[in-house]
Amino acid sequence: MRVGCPIHEGARRHPEAEALRFAGRGWTFGELDGEVARWTATLEARGMGQGDRVALLSTSHPAVTFLFWALGRVGAVFAPLNARLTRAELEPLVDAVAPRLTLALEPLRDRLPGAESLEAFPDREAASSSRPPEWEADTPRVILFTSGTTGRPKGAVLTEAAFRASCRASALNLGPHPAPRWLGTLPLFHVGGLAMLTRTAYEGGCLLLHERFDADAVNRAIDVEGASHASFVATTLERVLDARADRRLPDTFRCALIGGGPVPTALLTRARAAGLRALQTYGLTEACSQVTTERPDEADGRTAGPPLPGLEVRIVGTDGATLAVGQEGDVEVRGSTLMAGYWNQPDATRDAFHDGWLRTRDVGVTDARGRLTLLSRRTDLIVRGGENLYPAEIEAVLANHPAIAESAVVGVPEPHWGEVPVAFVVLRPGHVLPEDLDAWCRQSLARFKVPAHFVALETLPRNAMSKVERPVLRKRAMSQAVFQAGS
Ligand code: ATP
Repeated sequence: MRVGCPIHEGARRHPEAEALRFAGRGWTFGELDGEVARWTATLEARGMGQGDRVALLSTSHPAVTFLFWALGRVGAVFAPLNARLTRAELEPLVDAVAPRLTLALEPLRDRLPGAESLEAFPDREAASSSRPPEWEADTPRVILFTSGTTGRPKGAVLTEAAFRASCRASALNLGPHPAPRWLGTLPLFHVGGLAMLTRTAYEGGCLLLHERFDADAVNRAIDVEGASHASFVATTLERVLDARADRRLPDTFRCALIGGGPVPTALLTRARAAGLRALQTYGLTEACSQVTTERPDEADGRTAGPPLPGLEVRIVGTDGATLAVGQEGDVEVRGSTLMAGYWNQPDATRDAFHDGWLRTRDVGVTDARGRLTLLSRRTDLIVRGGENLYPAEIEAVLANHPAIAESAVVGVPEPHWGEVPVAFVVLRPGHVLPEDLDAWCRQSLARFKVPAHFVALETLPRNAMSKVERPVLRKRAMSQAVFQAGS
């Protein structure tokens, strides 16, 4: 199936409408289309064509959006790399992609040998491309590496058809909006950022692109630049709320999607009390972002909502059989937004699917209305003496302690129980590790769920997506030093 470029469509229908904003500068659909045509012509002049890969190392920058749409027009594959990775970490990813062209934002070029400057790439003299602004929807469009929280990043191959289906499903759930203005604070090398980039283009809206997350800049975009939608992870939502203090949200702000990791219900309640319509969402790279999202008319923050239109979720047991409503098991997803597979990893691709359903490696449960509650990443699940412990449940109890700013609970091997939970806590300023943490947990949690050790840290190790790096903590918890410090 061939599909039209949404930027070109937008330029035909509403050339003067704003399509992109960055650092105080705006581009209309007409201007954006002109940029994309120039980038397309430059790519064509370099002989780039169907299936060629382009690796990119960049933080969020307007040039990334020009490149993204131009690559679509020549049929080439966009492989954005995490801008926080080191040269050594990037090397195997670039090798795996085998790009025909490598680009990097000028300040990052030394980390990607042979990379050309992204800013200097387009040929200013290049005549506009004569190629029709459309492309095949079912061929690889993007190779997107997962965050790698569970091991080495894998390159999910996503098609334009999958992104289109995801944009449509998201819009159907959120309801019509004449011209959405999405805050683009998630990096464009992550599925969350690319979802916003494509969503605004397909909906004829504007992407308010930020180079990095900054709570004051986010609040300015909401208060002054008319941001209507945003997508946060729990930590960034908290920082936005802290920075707003008592300022009410303007009516122009419609809602925020919150996901990417466990979302404490208390945080969503706080957001709603501040007037921010926050919807919990569950998604993953392999499904082009959102799989389930709370419906705006029934959001209470207790679940991650039902599957979006066009997607299905089922819960299966260890034997692969589908479980009944209310039973905990592995979450599997089916539908039009799924990846085609992992780039050049046939074994991992085979493993990822089960009868056409994607194995998410998450553990969850659905209710009678199909709403999903995420319990844990399969690898984060702690099995103590045969009982399943979910770190998120323990972390939610710790979050309510007045001395604790944030926490992460991981399982470590222990001879008697098989595994025990260890809690890493970050204290609020001026606090020392409280002696009552054990008693505090016992008030709300069954005895077997209470962490065996509590360890204070200055900060939690986090990756580029602000996700806690649990393998780092697990390693630390397993070291003798931690057991001594915590006991
Ligand atoms: P990798 O797959 O490389 O380990 P990753 O899991 O961080 O990295 P992403 O695709 O960035 O890969 O994130 C998807 C994961 O984020 C989901 O599989 C799930 O574990 C977690 N997640 C997303 N939304 C939620 C949510 N609402 N509640 C709990 N966990 C969530």
